[in-house]
Amino acid sequence: MTSTHETTTPTELDPANPFAAPSTLPYGLPDFSAIREEHYEPAILAGMAAQRAEVEAIATNPEPATVENTLEALERSGQLLGRAARAYFNQLPSDSTPGLEDIQERLAPLFAAHQDAITMDARLHARAKALADAAAAGDLELEPDTAYLLEKLMTQFKRSGIELSEADQDTLRDLNARITTLEASFGRKLLAGANEASVLVTDEADLAGLSADAKAGARAAAEARGQDGWLLEMQLFTHQNVLASLEVAATRERVQSASMARGATGGENDTREVLLELALLRARRAQLLGYEHHAAYIADDATAGTTAAVNEMLGRLAPAAVANARREAAELAKVGGSADGVAAADWSYLNEAVRKERFDLDDAALRPYLELERVLHDGVFTAAGLLFGLSFVERPDLPGYHPDVRVFEVFDSVEPGEPNTGLGLFLGDFYTRESKRGGAWMDSLVVQSALLDEKPVVVNNLNIVKPPAGEPTLLVWDEVTTLFHEFGHALHGLLSDVRYPSQSGTSVPRDFVEYPSQVNEMWSWEPEILKSFAVHHATGEPMPAQWVDTMLASRVWGEGFSTTEYLAAALLDQAWHQLTPEQVPTSVDDVLPFEAAALAAAGVDFASVPPRYRSTYFNHIFGGGYSAGYYSYIWSEVLDADTVQWYAENGGLTRENGEAFRRKLLARGGSQDPLASFEDLRGRAADITPLLERRGLA
Ligand SMILES: [Zn+2]
Repeated sequence: MTSTHETTTPTELDPANPFAAPSTLPYGLPDFSAIREEHYEPAILAGMAAQRAEVEAIATNPEPATVENTLEALERSGQLLGRAARAYFNQLPSDSTPGLEDIQERLAPLFAAHQDAITMDARLHARAKALADAAAAGDLELEPDTAYLLEKLMTQFKRSGIELSEADQDTLRDLNARITTLEASFGRKLLAGANEASVLVTDEADLAGLSADAKAGARAAAEARGQDGWLLEMQLFTHQNVLASLEVAATRERVQSASMARGATGGENDTREVLLELALLRARRAQLLGYEHHAAYIADDATAGTTAAVNEMLGRLAPAAVANARREAAELAKVGGSADGVAAADWSYLNEAVRKERFDLDDAALRPYLELERVLHDGVFTAAGLLFGLSFVERPDLPGYHPDVRVFEVFDSVEPGEPNTGLGLFLGDFYTRESKRGGAWMDSLVVQSALLDEKPVVVNNLNIVKPPAGEPTLLVWDEVTTLFHEFGHALHGLLSDVRYPSQSGTSVPRDFVEYPSQVNEMWSWEPEILKSFAVHHATGEPMPAQWVDTMLASRVWGEGFSTTEYLAAALLDQAWHQLTPEQVPTSVDDVLPFEAAALAAAGVDFASVPPRYRSTYFNHIFGGGYSAGYYSYIWSEVLDADTVQWYAENGGLTRENGEAFRRKLLARGGSQDPLASFEDLRGRAADITPLLERRGLA
C-alpha cells in the first residue's frame, strides 16, 4: 500500500471509464467488452471518495434524522463503489492476473478503513440511535424490514466499538491489530510445519498400493526438495487421503502420527503459543464489547443467537454420530481391525475395502450419463422450473468476463397471454483454468433491490476440466451435486424480493447462507430429476437402475466417521472460544490436555476418529475468519434436512411448495431474522431428526 492512495481525491472519474455511469446493458450487466484491468482501481477509489462524500452529507444533515434521510440515504450511497467492487471481486478469483492481485494488495487496507470510517462515525451513530430510541419509545413506527435494517446497523455500530470510551477504543484497536497479526502468523507456521511434517519414504515397497500418479507426485515432491525417495505431503485436515490406498500398516502409522503432531512439535513452527494468545485476546475483546466470551460475540450476530443454542445442537448430534462411528468401526474390524478395535491410521484403508465390496461404482462408467448440458438444462434448470416456474434463455449476445462464461436470461412464470417478465441474469462459468482459484462459489454482479430498482445478476463458478473442442463435457457425480449446490445460492440471489440492497438475497449470516444451497443440492438425488438428466449423452439410454440404487445406498456409508470428525472439530472450536480471559490456559503444555478434556466432556473422544482438525493446525479458526463459526455447516444442514422433509411431507417438487419456499424464505433474503423465515415456512422451530436420518445416525 502507498499512502498516496489515501490522500488522492479522484472524485472525478474519467467519463470514459466503463464504471463511470451505470451499465446500459440488460439488467445492468457490466460491459465486459469495454472493461480492462486498469479501469478497476480508479473506479473503486473514486467510488470510495464518492461514498465518503455521501456519508458526510448524511452525517451533517441539519434536519433531524428520518428513515429517508439516514437509513435510506445510507442504502443509496456507494453505488459507484458497489458497481466497480462487485465486478472486481468477481473477476479476482475467477480470472485473475498479477495486476488484479496487486490491486487487491493495495486496496485491502483501504476497504477496511473505508468500512471503519462509516461504522466509527459518531455523527452517523447518533442519527441511527435517535431513530432506534424513537422506535423503542413508540414515537416512530417502522416497517418490519426497516426495523430489522436499523437493528442490524446498531449491532454493527456496537461491534465497531463506537459506544466505548476513548481509552477502550484504543485498546480495541490494539487488540484487533494484534489478533490480525497472530492469525497471519498461525497460517505461516502451519504452512511451514506442513512441509516439515511431510513423510519421506526411501523404500518403494513401503508405498505398495499407492497409484502410479500419486507415486510420481511423491517422487517429484522429494526431488523438488533435493531428497532421495518419495515425499508424502500433508493436506490440511487430519485424515490424509493417501491412507485409503497405502497397504503397509507401518507407512500409514507414520503418516497419521506426522499429521496429528503438526503444530505441537516444539521449535519454530509450533503453533501453541500463538493459539493461546489468540484465544486470550479474542476473549478480552469480546468482554470489552460486552459479551461473555468470543463464541457469544460470534453467535449474537448469527442465526444461532446464543452459544447455548449451538451447544444444544452439537450436544444432541454428538452421541448419535459417535454411536454410528462405533458401529462402522465394528464393520471395519471384521475385515482387518485388531483386538483394540480400529486404529485411526487404518480407518480409511479398511473403509475402502468395505466400500469396494458393497458399493463399487466406477466413476468412468458413470460419466457418459452425466453430461454438462443435460445436467444443466434437464436437471438444474428443470428443477427450478418445476418449483419456481422459472425458464432460462441463453444470451450469447451478452459478453461475460471470459470467453467461457455463458449468460442466461431468467424468466419468471407468467399468466397465459401475459408478456414474459425477465427476472435477472445467470452467468455460468463452469470450466477450470489457470487464472481461476479452486473450488466452486456464487457471486453477485448486481444485487436485487426495490429501492434502487435493480434486478439481480448472479454468477456461478465451478472447476470442471474443459474437454477438447467438439467433445461433450462429462461430469463425475460430485460435480453434478456441486452444480446443483451453487445454483441454490444463485436462486437465493435471483429470487430475492427485498427493498434494501444490503438485505438482498444471500446477505444472511454465515450459519444460514449454506441452507438454501444445500436444499437445492438435494434435488440432484430426487428420482424424478435424476432420471431426467442422467441419460447417456450419445445413446440417450437412461442410467441403469441398479447403479442409481447403489449410489443411493452408498450415501450414508461412512457418515458416522465424517460426522464425528467434523463435530469433534466444531466442539473444539466452541471449547476454545467459550473461555473467559481468566479461563484460557497459560502454558503451551496445557494445549493438548485442554483439547483432550474438551473432547471427553463432549463425548467425542473416540480415538479411532480424531477431530478433522486438531487445535494446533485448525486454520479455519486460528488462521482465518471462521472462529467460533465452524459449527455453521451443520447448523445449515439441520435446516436443510428439515426443509427437504417438509417438501416430502407436502408432495415433493411441486409449484405450490416451490412458491412457499420462494415467498417465505428465498425472497426474504436478510430482510428479517432468517430463523423467522424458516419458522414461517416450517410452522415450527427446526428439528434435528431429519438430519440424523439423512446421515444414517437415527
Ligand atoms: Zn455453498
